[in-house]
Amino acid sequence: MDKKITVTSPLLPSLEDFMPYLEKIWESKWITNNGNFHKQLEQALCDYLGVRFISAFTNGTLPLITALQALRITGEVITTPYSFVATTHAIWWNGNKPVFVDVDPMTGNLDPDLIEAAITPRTTAIMPVHVYGNPCETEKIQAIANKYGLKVLYDAAHAFGVKVDGHSILEAGDMSTLSFHATKTYNTIEGGALICRDSETKKRIDYLKNFGFAGETEVVAPGINSKMDEVRAAYGLLNLKQVDAAIQKRKEVARFYQSHLLNAPGIRYMKEREDITYNYSYFPIFVDAQQYGMSRDELYFKMREKNIFGRRYFYPLISTFPTYRGLKSASKENLPNATKMADEVICLPMHHDLSREDLERIIALIVTHHK
Ligand SMILES: *Cc1c(COP(=O)(O)O)cnc(C)c1O
Repeated sequence: MDKKITVTSPLLPSLEDFMPYLEKIWESKWITNNGNFHKQLEQALCDYLGVRFISAFTNGTLPLITALQALRITGEVITTPYSFVATTHAIWWNGNKPVFVDVDPMTGNLDPDLIEAAITPRTTAIMPVHVYGNPCETEKIQAIANKYGLKVLYDAAHAFGVKVDGHSILEAGDMSTLSFHATKTYNTIEGGALICRDSETKKRIDYLKNFGFAGETEVVAPGINSKMDEVRAAYGLLNLKQVDAAIQKRKEVARFYQSHLLNAPGIRYMKEREDITYNYSYFPIFVDAQQYGMSRDELYFKMREKNIFGRRYFYPLISTFPTYRGLKSASKENLPNATKMADEVICLPMHHDLSREDLERIIALIVTHHK
Protein backbone atom coordinates (compact mmCIF):
# COMPACT_ATOMS: atom_id res chain seq x y z
CA MET A 1 0.00 0.00 0.00
CA ASP A 2 1.31 3.45 -0.89
CA LYS A 3 2.07 5.98 1.85
CA LYS A 4 -0.98 7.60 3.41
CA ILE A 5 -1.60 11.16 2.20
CA THR A 6 -3.81 13.15 4.56
CA VAL A 7 -5.92 16.16 3.66
CA THR A 8 -4.04 18.29 6.18
CA SER A 9 -1.05 18.14 8.50
CA PRO A 10 -0.54 20.42 11.48
CA LEU A 11 2.15 23.06 11.40
CA LEU A 12 4.21 22.29 14.53
CA PRO A 13 6.93 24.42 16.14
CA SER A 14 10.14 22.53 16.84
CA LEU A 15 10.32 21.02 20.32
CA GLU A 16 13.73 22.59 20.74
CA ASP A 17 12.25 26.07 20.26
CA PHE A 18 9.24 25.27 22.42
CA MET A 19 11.13 24.06 25.52
CA PRO A 20 12.54 27.45 26.63
CA TYR A 21 9.01 28.92 26.39
CA LEU A 22 7.67 26.09 28.54
CA GLU A 23 10.44 26.64 31.07
CA LYS A 24 9.41 30.31 31.33
CA ILE A 25 5.81 29.32 31.96
CA TRP A 26 6.83 26.74 34.60
CA GLU A 27 9.10 29.29 36.31
CA SER A 28 6.41 31.97 36.42
CA LYS A 29 3.66 29.54 37.49
CA TRP A 30 1.29 31.81 35.55
CA ILE A 31 -0.39 29.32 33.21
CA THR A 32 -3.60 31.09 32.12
CA ASN A 33 -5.71 34.29 32.62
CA ASN A 34 -4.13 36.94 30.41
CA GLY A 35 -0.50 35.99 31.07
CA ASN A 36 2.58 37.26 29.31
CA PHE A 37 2.46 34.96 26.32
CA HIS A 38 -1.24 35.63 25.89
CA LYS A 39 -0.59 39.38 25.75
CA GLN A 40 2.36 38.90 23.40
CA LEU A 41 0.31 36.68 21.10
CA GLU A 42 -2.53 39.19 20.84
CA GLN A 43 -0.05 41.94 19.93
CA ALA A 44 1.85 39.72 17.47
CA LEU A 45 -1.42 38.71 15.79
CA CYS A 46 -2.45 42.36 15.43
CA ASP A 47 0.88 43.13 13.79
CA TYR A 48 0.87 40.09 11.53
CA LEU A 49 -2.76 40.38 10.45
CA GLY A 50 -2.90 44.16 10.17
CA VAL A 51 -5.79 44.60 12.60
CA ARG A 52 -6.06 46.80 15.70
CA PHE A 53 -8.13 44.85 18.23
CA ILE A 54 -8.01 41.11 18.72
CA SER A 55 -8.94 38.81 21.59
CA ALA A 56 -7.44 35.32 21.73
CA PHE A 57 -9.85 32.45 22.43
CA THR A 58 -9.66 28.80 23.34
CA ASN A 59 -11.13 27.67 20.00
CA GLY A 60 -12.81 29.09 16.90
CA THR A 61 -16.41 28.37 17.86
CA LEU A 62 -16.57 30.36 21.10
CA PRO A 63 -15.63 33.67 19.42
CA LEU A 64 -18.69 33.21 17.16
CA ILE A 65 -20.94 32.59 20.17
CA THR A 66 -19.34 35.45 22.11
CA ALA A 67 -19.55 37.88 19.19
CA LEU A 68 -23.30 37.34 18.89
CA GLN A 69 -23.56 38.09 22.64
CA ALA A 70 -21.32 41.15 22.40
CA LEU A 71 -23.38 42.50 19.49
CA ARG A 72 -26.61 41.66 21.40
CA ILE A 73 -28.03 39.77 18.43
CA THR A 74 -31.59 38.46 18.79
CA GLY A 75 -34.18 37.07 16.40
CA GLU A 76 -33.13 35.98 12.92
CA VAL A 77 -29.62 35.79 11.53
CA ILE A 78 -29.02 35.44 7.78
CA THR A 79 -26.28 32.93 7.06
CA THR A 80 -24.89 30.35 4.64
CA PRO A 81 -25.51 26.59 4.66
CA TYR A 82 -22.17 26.03 2.89
CA SER A 83 -19.79 26.10 5.86
CA PHE A 84 -18.55 24.10 8.80
CA VAL A 85 -21.44 23.32 11.13
CA ALA A 86 -20.09 25.58 13.92
CA THR A 87 -21.24 28.68 12.02
CA THR A 88 -24.93 27.83 12.37
CA HIS A 89 -24.53 26.17 15.77
CA ALA A 90 -23.28 29.50 17.17
CA ILE A 91 -26.55 31.16 16.11
CA TRP A 92 -28.55 28.32 17.67
CA TRP A 93 -26.63 28.38 20.97
CA ASN A 94 -27.60 32.03 21.33
CA GLY A 95 -31.26 31.08 20.98
CA ASN A 96 -31.51 32.77 17.59
CA LYS A 97 -32.94 31.51 14.33
CA PRO A 98 -30.66 30.87 11.37
CA VAL A 99 -32.07 31.87 7.97
CA PHE A 100 -30.22 30.22 5.10
CA VAL A 101 -29.47 32.08 1.89
CA ASP A 102 -27.88 30.48 -1.18
CA VAL A 103 -24.27 30.98 -2.26
CA ASP A 104 -22.43 32.22 -5.34
CA PRO A 105 -21.18 29.09 -7.14
CA MET A 106 -17.93 30.82 -8.18
CA THR A 107 -16.78 31.54 -4.61
CA GLY A 108 -18.99 29.43 -2.34
CA ASN A 109 -19.83 32.61 -0.41
CA LEU A 110 -23.22 34.02 0.56
CA ASP A 111 -24.74 35.64 -2.56
CA PRO A 112 -25.36 39.29 -1.59
CA ASP A 113 -28.05 39.65 -4.26
CA LEU A 114 -30.23 37.12 -2.41
CA ILE A 115 -29.92 38.63 1.07
CA GLU A 116 -32.59 41.34 0.87
CA ALA A 117 -35.37 38.88 0.00
CA ALA A 118 -34.60 36.95 3.22
CA ILE A 119 -34.85 39.99 5.54
CA THR A 120 -37.88 40.13 7.86
CA PRO A 121 -38.77 42.49 10.74
CA ARG A 122 -37.01 40.01 13.06
CA THR A 123 -33.67 40.02 11.19
CA THR A 124 -30.86 41.59 13.23
CA ALA A 125 -27.65 40.32 11.68
CA ILE A 126 -25.88 38.80 8.67
CA MET A 127 -23.29 36.11 9.31
CA PRO A 128 -21.34 35.29 6.14
CA VAL A 129 -18.29 33.02 5.86
CA HIS A 130 -15.18 33.66 3.74
CA VAL A 131 -15.29 30.07 2.47
CA TYR A 132 -11.85 28.55 1.67
CA GLY A 133 -10.45 32.03 2.38
CA ASN A 134 -12.28 33.56 -0.61
CA PRO A 135 -13.27 37.08 0.48
CA CYS A 136 -17.02 37.78 0.54
CA GLU A 137 -18.43 40.75 -1.33
CA THR A 138 -18.06 42.84 1.81
CA GLU A 139 -19.07 46.21 0.33
CA LYS A 140 -22.36 44.93 -1.03
CA ILE A 141 -23.11 43.14 2.25
CA GLN A 142 -22.29 46.27 4.27
CA ALA A 143 -24.57 48.40 2.08
CA ILE A 144 -27.48 46.05 2.81
CA ALA A 145 -26.63 46.00 6.52
CA ASN A 146 -26.56 49.79 6.62
CA LYS A 147 -29.84 50.08 4.78
CA TYR A 148 -31.68 47.76 7.19
CA GLY A 149 -29.71 48.51 10.37
CA LEU A 150 -28.20 45.04 10.67
CA LYS A 151 -24.92 43.89 12.26
CA VAL A 152 -22.41 41.90 10.20
CA LEU A 153 -20.32 39.15 11.77
CA TYR A 154 -17.85 37.35 9.50
CA ASP A 155 -16.82 33.78 10.21
CA ALA A 156 -13.28 34.20 8.91
CA ALA A 157 -12.06 30.81 10.19
CA HIS A 158 -10.50 30.15 6.75
CA ALA A 159 -9.23 33.67 6.10
CA PHE A 160 -6.12 33.97 8.29
CA GLY A 161 -3.89 36.57 6.63
CA VAL A 162 -6.13 37.05 3.58
CA LYS A 163 -5.98 40.56 2.10
CA VAL A 164 -7.85 42.49 -0.58
CA ASP A 165 -5.82 45.28 -2.18
CA GLY A 166 -3.37 44.95 0.68
CA HIS A 167 -6.04 45.38 3.39
CA SER A 168 -6.95 42.65 5.86
CA ILE A 169 -10.31 41.05 5.12
CA LEU A 170 -10.71 40.81 8.91
CA GLU A 171 -11.49 44.54 9.05
CA ALA A 172 -14.82 44.04 7.24
CA GLY A 173 -18.15 44.16 9.09
CA ASP A 174 -18.63 44.70 12.83
CA MET A 175 -16.54 41.72 13.90
CA SER A 176 -14.64 38.77 12.43
CA THR A 177 -13.63 35.47 13.98
CA LEU A 178 -10.68 33.14 13.35
CA SER A 179 -10.05 29.49 14.15
CA PHE A 180 -6.59 28.26 15.10
CA HIS A 181 -7.59 24.60 15.12
CA ALA A 182 -4.91 22.01 14.28
CA THR A 183 -6.37 21.58 10.77
CA LYS A 184 -6.16 25.26 9.86
CA THR A 185 -3.40 27.16 8.04
CA TYR A 186 -2.23 28.67 11.34
CA ASN A 187 -2.85 26.68 14.52
CA THR A 188 -2.44 26.87 18.27
CA ILE A 189 -3.57 23.19 18.60
CA GLU A 190 -7.05 24.44 19.56
CA GLY A 191 -7.60 28.16 19.50
CA GLY A 192 -9.27 31.10 17.87
CA ALA A 193 -9.76 34.85 17.99
CA LEU A 194 -12.32 37.62 17.77
CA ILE A 195 -11.45 40.81 15.89
CA CYS A 196 -13.38 44.00 16.64
CA ARG A 197 -13.13 47.69 15.73
CA ASP A 198 -12.54 49.62 18.97
CA SER A 199 -10.99 49.31 22.41
CA GLU A 200 -14.30 49.58 24.30
CA THR A 201 -15.67 46.58 22.41
CA LYS A 202 -12.47 44.62 22.99
CA LYS A 203 -12.79 45.30 26.69
CA ARG A 204 -16.32 43.95 26.66
CA ILE A 205 -15.26 40.86 24.70
CA ASP A 206 -12.48 40.25 27.21
CA TYR A 207 -15.05 40.41 30.03
CA LEU A 208 -17.32 38.02 28.17
CA LYS A 209 -14.58 35.44 27.60
CA ASN A 210 -13.86 35.44 31.35
CA PHE A 211 -17.33 34.86 32.88
CA GLY A 212 -18.22 38.55 32.56
CA PHE A 213 -15.72 39.64 35.22
CA ALA A 214 -14.90 43.35 34.95
CA GLY A 215 -12.95 43.38 38.22
CA GLU A 216 -12.31 41.19 41.22
CA THR A 217 -15.93 41.05 42.32
CA GLU A 218 -17.86 42.75 39.54
CA VAL A 219 -19.66 40.62 36.94
CA VAL A 220 -21.12 42.82 34.20
CA ALA A 221 -22.52 40.25 31.77
CA PRO A 222 -23.47 36.57 31.47
CA GLY A 223 -20.00 35.63 30.26
CA ILE A 224 -18.46 32.31 29.37
CA ASN A 225 -15.01 30.80 29.83
CA SER A 226 -13.11 30.81 26.56
CA LYS A 227 -9.67 32.11 27.52
CA MET A 228 -6.53 30.88 25.78
CA ASP A 229 -3.88 29.45 28.12
CA GLU A 230 -0.17 30.30 28.26
CA VAL A 231 1.08 27.03 26.76
CA ARG A 232 -0.94 27.44 23.60
CA ALA A 233 -0.20 31.18 23.41
CA ALA A 234 3.54 30.37 23.47
CA TYR A 235 3.05 27.66 20.83
CA GLY A 236 1.11 30.21 18.78
CA LEU A 237 3.93 32.78 18.98
CA LEU A 238 6.36 30.20 17.59
CA ASN A 239 4.00 29.10 14.81
CA LEU A 240 3.48 32.70 13.76
CA LYS A 241 7.19 32.86 12.85
CA GLN A 242 6.89 29.99 10.38
CA VAL A 243 3.40 30.50 8.99
CA ASP A 244 4.59 32.58 6.00
CA ALA A 245 6.91 29.78 4.89
CA ALA A 246 4.06 27.29 5.28
CA ILE A 247 1.73 29.48 3.19
CA GLN A 248 4.43 29.71 0.50
CA LYS A 249 4.59 25.88 0.40
CA ARG A 250 0.80 25.73 0.13
CA LYS A 251 0.93 28.19 -2.73
CA GLU A 252 3.33 25.89 -4.58
CA VAL A 253 0.93 22.98 -4.02
CA ALA A 254 -1.93 25.09 -5.40
CA ARG A 255 0.15 26.02 -8.47
CA PHE A 256 0.90 22.34 -9.11
CA TYR A 257 -2.77 21.36 -8.87
CA GLN A 258 -3.86 24.31 -11.03
CA SER A 259 -1.43 23.58 -13.84
CA HIS A 260 -2.17 19.84 -13.89
CA LEU A 261 -5.95 20.13 -13.64
CA LEU A 262 -6.37 23.00 -16.08
CA ASN A 263 -7.53 20.77 -18.92
CA ALA A 264 -9.02 17.90 -16.93
CA PRO A 265 -12.55 17.42 -18.30
CA GLY A 266 -15.25 17.61 -15.65
CA ILE A 267 -12.95 18.97 -12.94
CA ARG A 268 -13.36 22.61 -11.94
CA TYR A 269 -11.30 24.56 -9.44
CA MET A 270 -11.65 28.12 -8.21
CA LYS A 271 -9.94 30.88 -10.16
CA GLU A 272 -7.76 33.35 -8.29
CA ARG A 273 -8.12 37.11 -8.38
CA GLU A 274 -5.16 39.46 -8.87
CA ASP A 275 -6.13 41.86 -6.07
CA ILE A 276 -6.33 39.16 -3.37
CA THR A 277 -3.54 37.81 -1.17
CA TYR A 278 -4.60 34.21 -0.51
CA ASN A 279 -3.56 31.87 2.28
CA TYR A 280 -4.13 28.65 0.29
CA SER A 281 -5.98 27.05 3.16
CA TYR A 282 -7.91 24.61 0.95
CA PHE A 283 -7.87 23.34 -2.60
CA PRO A 284 -11.45 22.39 -3.50
CA ILE A 285 -12.24 20.72 -6.82
CA PHE A 286 -15.77 20.25 -8.17
CA VAL A 287 -16.54 17.05 -10.04
CA ASP A 288 -19.11 17.21 -12.83
CA ALA A 289 -20.16 13.55 -12.91
CA GLN A 290 -21.43 13.70 -16.52
CA GLN A 291 -18.28 15.23 -17.98
CA TYR A 292 -15.84 13.45 -15.71
CA GLY A 293 -17.48 10.08 -16.16
CA MET A 294 -17.49 9.35 -12.44
CA SER A 295 -19.36 10.91 -9.54
CA ARG A 296 -17.71 12.91 -6.77
CA ASP A 297 -18.28 10.08 -4.30
CA GLU A 298 -16.84 7.47 -6.67
CA LEU A 299 -13.68 9.56 -7.05
CA TYR A 300 -13.55 10.29 -3.31
CA PHE A 301 -13.72 6.59 -2.39
CA LYS A 302 -11.33 5.62 -5.18
CA MET A 303 -8.84 8.08 -3.67
CA ARG A 304 -9.33 6.53 -0.25
CA GLU A 305 -8.67 3.06 -1.66
CA LYS A 306 -5.33 4.40 -2.83
CA ASN A 307 -4.63 5.87 0.61
CA ILE A 308 -5.24 9.46 -0.49
CA PHE A 309 -7.58 11.28 1.88
CA GLY A 310 -9.47 14.29 0.59
CA ARG A 311 -12.43 15.77 2.48
CA ARG A 312 -15.92 16.51 1.26
CA TYR A 313 -15.91 20.05 2.64
CA PHE A 314 -18.75 21.08 2.78
CA TYR A 315 -20.98 18.05 2.55
CA PRO A 316 -23.63 17.51 3.75
CA LEU A 317 -24.94 21.08 3.88
CA ILE A 318 -25.60 22.39 7.40
CA SER A 319 -29.23 22.96 6.38
CA THR A 320 -29.73 19.17 6.00
CA PHE A 321 -28.84 18.28 9.61
CA PRO A 322 -31.76 17.28 11.89
CA THR A 323 -31.57 20.51 13.96
CA TYR A 324 -32.00 22.73 10.91
CA ARG A 325 -33.73 20.76 8.15
CA GLY A 326 -37.22 21.74 9.36
CA LEU A 327 -36.56 25.45 8.76
CA LYS A 328 -38.32 26.92 5.74
CA SER A 329 -35.06 28.40 4.44
CA ALA A 330 -33.37 24.96 4.61
CA SER A 331 -35.19 23.56 1.56
CA LYS A 332 -33.19 22.36 -1.44
CA GLU A 333 -35.25 24.65 -3.65
CA ASN A 334 -34.01 27.65 -1.68
CA LEU A 335 -30.38 26.52 -1.92
CA PRO A 336 -29.70 25.14 -5.42
CA ASN A 337 -26.11 26.41 -5.76
CA ALA A 338 -25.02 25.28 -2.30
CA THR A 339 -26.66 21.88 -2.89
CA LYS A 340 -24.80 21.41 -6.18
CA MET A 341 -21.46 22.45 -4.68
CA ALA A 342 -21.92 20.12 -1.71
CA ASP A 343 -22.60 17.26 -4.15
CA GLU A 344 -19.54 17.97 -6.30
CA VAL A 345 -16.78 19.09 -3.94
CA ILE A 346 -13.64 17.34 -2.78
CA CYS A 347 -10.94 19.30 -0.96
CA LEU A 348 -7.65 17.82 -2.12
CA PRO A 349 -4.78 17.30 0.32
CA MET A 350 -3.35 20.75 1.09
CA HIS A 351 -0.57 21.44 3.58
CA HIS A 352 3.08 22.49 3.90
CA ASP A 353 4.38 18.92 4.04
CA LEU A 354 3.30 17.46 0.69
CA SER A 355 6.11 16.11 -1.48
CA ARG A 356 6.39 16.19 -5.26
CA GLU A 357 5.69 12.41 -5.31
CA ASP A 358 2.58 12.87 -3.18
CA LEU A 359 1.26 15.49 -5.61
CA GLU A 360 2.08 13.39 -8.66
CA ARG A 361 0.22 10.42 -7.15
CA ILE A 362 -2.85 12.56 -6.49
CA ILE A 363 -2.89 14.09 -9.95
CA ALA A 364 -2.25 10.75 -11.68
CA LEU A 365 -5.24 9.25 -9.92
CA ILE A 366 -7.54 12.13 -10.82
CA VAL A 367 -6.55 12.51 -14.49
CA THR A 368 -5.67 8.97 -15.62
CA HIS A 369 -9.09 7.58 -15.00
CA HIS A 370 -10.09 8.90 -18.46
CA LYS A 371 -7.48 6.87 -20.26
C1 LIG B 1 -12.89 25.39 11.83
C2 LIG B 1 -14.10 26.24 11.65
C3 LIG B 1 -14.84 26.75 12.74
C4 LIG B 1 -14.65 26.28 14.15
O1 LIG B 1 -13.42 26.42 14.65
P1 LIG B 1 -12.93 25.50 15.86
O2 LIG B 1 -11.62 26.14 16.19
O3 LIG B 1 -12.77 24.11 15.34
O4 LIG B 1 -13.91 25.62 16.96
C5 LIG B 1 -15.86 27.64 12.49
N1 LIG B 1 -16.19 28.00 11.25
C6 LIG B 1 -15.55 27.51 10.17
C7 LIG B 1 -15.97 27.96 8.81
C8 LIG B 1 -14.50 26.59 10.33
O5 LIG B 1 -13.89 26.07 9.26
